[in-house]
Amino acid sequence: MAKKEVETLAVLQCLKSSYIVIDAERCKGCHLCISACPREIIGLAPHINRMGYNPAAVIEEKAHECTGCAACAMMCPDTAITVYRHSRVPSAVVA
Ligand code: SF4
Ligand code: SF4
Repeated sequence: MAKKEVETLAVLQCLKSSYIVIDAERCKGCHLCISACPREIIGLAPHINRMGYNPAAVIEEKAHECTGCAACAMMCPDTAITVYRHSRVPSAVVA
């Protein structure tokens, strides 16, 4: 496969991936999202938030594996997780 094709595939993959954002200051470190994630991409951060908890955080090396299933967000009792799904590929990239 040519280098250009590899680069294009990488861009498309990136555009299709989903991701989550965790509001660390709302998190109580209850582990529910960690248990709920089928891809095991959430862990606890080493720092303490203003409430005195180690907040949940995405494990950077596994972030690209997020499917946007929202199991973590549905489980969170503090609505601290927002899920972003990217499934539309801009036509300029496809053309
Ligand atoms: S949306 Fe799904 S795959 Fe992504 S972090 Fe949450 S539970 Fe895991
Ligand atoms: S479920 Fe919510 S409160 Fe519990 S660790 Fe995850 S983000 Fe924090």
